[in-house]
Amino acid sequence: MKPAEALSEAVMDVLKEFSQKRLPLHCASLREIFAAREEIVSLLASDVETNIKERQPSAACGESGHALPRAEVNSKEWELEQLPDLREAFLAVLEGIAPAIKGDHEGRFTQLQEEICGCQSLKLLSSFGTQVGTIVGELIQQAVKDTDYSNDFLFELSKDLYQMEQQLSTYQDFNKEGYKISNEFYTDILSSTTDINHAIGPNTNESGLRGLIHSKLIMISESIDLKRKSDERRASESEIKINELQNDLKAHERELLQIRKRSESLEKDVFIDELTKISNRRSYDLHIKECLREYKRSAKQFSLILIDIDHFKIINDSYGHKAGDKCLKEIAQRIKSTLRKSDFLARYGGEELVVILHECDAKNAVNVAENIRRRIENTRFYYHDETIPVTVSLGVTEVMSSDSEPEAPFVRVDEAMYRAKNEGRNRVCSTSAQFAITSRSSV
Ligand code: GH3
Ligand code: MG
Ligand code: MG
Repeated sequence: MKPAEALSEAVMDVLKEFSQKRLPLHCASLREIFAAREEIVSLLASDVETNIKERQPSAACGESGHALPRAEVNSKEWELEQLPDLREAFLAVLEGIAPAIKGDHEGRFTQLQEEICGCQSLKLLSSFGTQVGTIVGELIQQAVKDTDYSNDFLFELSKDLYQMEQQLSTYQDFNKEGYKISNEFYTDILSSTTDINHAIGPNTNESGLRGLIHSKLIMISESIDLKRKSDERRASESEIKINELQNDLKAHERELLQIRKRSESLEKDVFIDELTKISNRRSYDLHIKECLREYKRSAKQFSLILIDIDHFKIINDSYGHKAGDKCLKEIAQRIKSTLRKSDFLARYGGEELVVILHECDAKNAVNVAENIRRRIENTRFYYHDETIPVTVSLGVTEVMSSDSEPEAPFVRVDEAMYRAKNEGRNRVCSTSAQFAITSRSSV
């Protein structure tokens, strides 16, 4: 076999072993590859040497000064003959490992393929063996690492299963033992009473019968005593086992509670706005979808209010961002306290809040919005010792039969809110003209 083929086969065998059987590759397999590669590289080197020597003219010629160019020509020819085979062998190895190449290796792998394809020197090509070996080695190491991880996991799992099995078999043995003891006890009693029964006959003499009954009664009382003792022992063992089970159960309950708490807090993270602690935009998106679905199904009307803080940039600029945050939090809490429990309040984004009023038309929604506006206008917001004047502009709309998407009522309420801004802020504007409210402008 040619050295190049031997290298290719050594690598392929180890890879096949890994991919077909999914066995962890041990250092031994890895060593085999490297041993094969080193052997092959030295074979190649000695091949080149022998070839050069064989084709070299005599020493005399060498001394004449013409030998070297001739030897070089010969070895070059030999090299060119060997090149395609060796290149093919390397490319076959690369093709074999290609499906396993991921991430960091990809760039290096493609570059190596290109370099091998274009390589015109046997020496250079042989040196690629080291690089191919390194990539294969790293892949194998990764595979061994992955397998170690799964093995650890499986080991833990099997340990748990073994423990459970042990527990179960203890309980089984315990029950079997109880059954055996009871059985022996009943057999003893039965045989004693049967003996007495048989002994009572027309010819039985009284003293013999008395003696028999006496000895049988002693046996029965011994059996009862034994049974009582074993029952007591088993009762206390049962108690210990019941305690163990109860403790296990409590531990499971605690675990469950922790899982539930964790999932609740995750749910909070997902649907609650961190700053204001009211629902967030994601929650609003789900809620409005559900309201619209319900409206289509049962014609249950609902309305939207969009609230935007007036000149919030100025508040931030004048009192600082922290003061702005504090205002935003307090405004959210104030608005929440003016609403019914069934109403839905969310931070839509920035300093815009949105309210969904269930079973409420635009007329009533305008009244709620006006309450909110007044409440904010009349509240004193403090930051350190300063009072910050805050007002809000509000848009109101009610759901309409033509609303096929949740965005439709939002576009309307957004327009209404901007109208409130344009008309001087600190006011409520509704999409239904007849409910328009002209509020006192703050600025
Ligand atoms: P307008 O009356 O037209 O609404 O004026 P405005 O200054 O409130 O303008 P706009 O609504 O466009 O700007 C909102 C500002 O709110 C911009 C941004 O810096 C600020 N803001 C958004 N989110 C937060 C926040 O979480 N905390 C603070 N402090 N500021 C925020
Ligand atoms: Mg805004
Ligand atoms: Mg604003």
